[in-house]
Amino acid sequence: MYETIEIEKVERSCPACEEYSKKHSTNPPRIAVMACEGACSKGEVARLAANMVAHRLAREETVRICLGGAFTKDTGQRDLVRRANKTIAIEGCFISCSSRICTRSGRNRG
Ligand code: SF4
Repeated sequence: MYETIEIEKVERSCPACEEYSKKHSTNPPRIAVMACEGACSKGEVARLAANMVAHRLAREETVRICLGGAFTKDTGQRDLVRRANKTIAIEGCFISCSSRICTRSGRNRG
């Protein structure tokens, strides 16, 4: 069961985000690490844990994904998720935002 939403299409993209995506678009692809963006305390813990994995514990094997960027626009962030053979989704609560997005894009394999 799915729900459909309309998101305003934008033509512009963030140069810093695109540069980051390009830099981490390696071959073989890195493991995509997704998490909440931290609006509530549970989400914030998930966000910090994802940063710890991607920026400290497995820096060479993973790439941190901007969930908002990957979800709302088809640019480098989404491409990192699309290319990844594995994704790690760290959730703050049972709503499981990252996992549900990965499932829809066919990337919930790891
Ligand atoms: S998984 Fe829960 S805490 Fe995380 S962004 Fe979604 S609703 Fe918020």
